[in-house]
Amino acid sequence: MIEELKQQVITFAQKLNTTNLSPLRSGNVSIRARKDDVDGFLLTPSGIKYETLKTNDIVFLSLREEYNNLKMFNSSLNPSSEWRFHQDIYRKKPEAKAIVHAHSPHATAVSAHGKSIPAFHYMVALAGGDDIKCAEYATFGTPELSINLLKALENRKACLMSNHGQITFGPNLKQAFELAQEVENICHQYIIALKIGNPKILSKTEMSKILDKIIHYKKG
Ligand code: 13P
Ligand code: ZN
Repeated sequence: MIEELKQQVITFAQKLNTTNLSPLRSGNVSIRARKDDVDGFLLTPSGIKYETLKTNDIVFLSLREEYNNLKMFNSSLNPSSEWRFHQDIYRKKPEAKAIVHAHSPHATAVSAHGKSIPAFHYMVALAGGDDIKCAEYATFGTPELSINLLKALENRKACLMSNHGQITFGPNLKQAFELAQEVENICHQYIIALKIGNPKILSKTEMSKILDKIIHYKKG
């Protein structure tokens, strides 16, 4: 079971590369897992190219303990430098079963302006509300970054990260990954829309209709 979950992490980490969501080793991917009766998650290692990943490289972290950097010296590979926000999201959001973080080009470009995505298109509802928020900047891997992300993820399952990229979660890796692809596409469209002026923003009333409808939208 744990081997199968590790394989899923590798499959979707490699998809970050092949779908142009994140080249080489940027971004990271995790999935909830239980090992030796300990609740935790499986996470990509830090700084390793996804194309070379093997199941032994995927790191298990407990939900309860802080990752102890001293362990670096005992294990061959360190967990992603972003282990803390993966852990904090799993702790705070029981519905999060898998997480994808990407430096996808258009989401990163919008994030560099600290801009949230308004309802210029009804598909922003896929993230869970009438906008996609942009979390305030903090240094990668820090507790501050976790705090900022959790704020932007209130009532949402995706957000941008200022001067960095995007993060999504879902009930499984497939859905978390697809949401990251949707966020990237929405950001691309938003950039194009901004080039020809200020796009019209859908009203709160319209977006609340959309939010009711969109629950039934994706089937396949
Ligand atoms: P890691 O290789 O440590 O996961 O770092 C990639 C990243 O995207 C940091 O934000
Ligand atoms: Zn990153």
